[in-house]
Amino acid sequence: MSNEAEGRFPWRGTRPYNSLSAQIVREFGGRVQKVSIDAGFTCPNRDGTTGRGGCTYCNNDAFNPLYCTPEKSITEQILQGISFHRRRYRRSVGYLAYFQAYTNSYESVDKLEILYNEALAVEGVKGLVIGTRPDCVNDDILELFASISEKSWLLVEYGIESCYNKTLRRVNRGHSFEESESAVRATSSRGIRTGAHLIFGLPGESREEMLAQASILSDLPLDTIKFHQLQIVRGTRMEKEYNDEPGQFDLFNWDEYRDFVISFAELLNPAIAIDRFTGEAPPAMIIAPRWNMKRTDSLIVEIEKRMEERETWQGRLCGK
Ligand code: SF4
Repeated sequence: MSNEAEGRFPWRGTRPYNSLSAQIVREFGGRVQKVSIDAGFTCPNRDGTTGRGGCTYCNNDAFNPLYCTPEKSITEQILQGISFHRRRYRRSVGYLAYFQAYTNSYESVDKLEILYNEALAVEGVKGLVIGTRPDCVNDDILELFASISEKSWLLVEYGIESCYNKTLRRVNRGHSFEESESAVRATSSRGIRTGAHLIFGLPGESREEMLAQASILSDLPLDTIKFHQLQIVRGTRMEKEYNDEPGQFDLFNWDEYRDFVISFAELLNPAIAIDRFTGEAPPAMIIAPRWNMKRTDSLIVEIEKRMEERETWQGRLCGK
């Protein structure tokens, strides 16, 4: 499909989906690597402000690279991250500082400004990705995001996780889908690049319900989206729930998941760039599902190959 498809899709490029990484390569003229940071934030769903114990699937240690610890300054973490990635990807033309751990807007606006500016001042950093919860932004924080967005590349990524309040309650998420919708609209209306994170396979959701979220999200002013398969991670409340009653979980095997995310992409607005298709917790942290995890890159190759076999592409069925 590759060469023939050039120019055939609403996005530029040859992949059968609107790839955020391809978009970034076009914008910066080469690969720009994300470098994770743990800036020492906590989370209102852990400290008692909106809840205690956190989301039932959450163990932040599963996603934090080793060089990320809040005892180190932001500058130190970024420099160590850059040197780590340089060994793997020699050809990066720059870096995006990724405020990843916990809730990265859960602080006073003055403190946030200092932290974000420290990251932007590190040589080679071209912009920021800020991961947060939809109930942890307000007008002042959004104005700060808007001012950063005017001078640097910025993506604010909201953990939406599900469009269904019954699911959000079940996993103790501590916010509603209406709050997600309102945060996305408020962010995008200020001209800030806005992203969503979604988990497929949360307990109590049928596959049809999961798929129906594609059209709900297609109507939101989103620029990017990330998908994760539900993983039962060690040290979480969900691990106990899974051990006590595995039947309440309908986890995806790899073949099912690959076909599911393709069906989801077919229904998704082609203007929304896909940032990730799969989650990648360290294998030692995962209880289930065990996919004999291959590297994310090879899973993406399999997804693209399957899209070609199915003669489909992102947005093919959007609005139909
Ligand atoms: S997933 Fe995010 S919001 Fe939920 S408990 Fe973990 S850090 Fe907090």
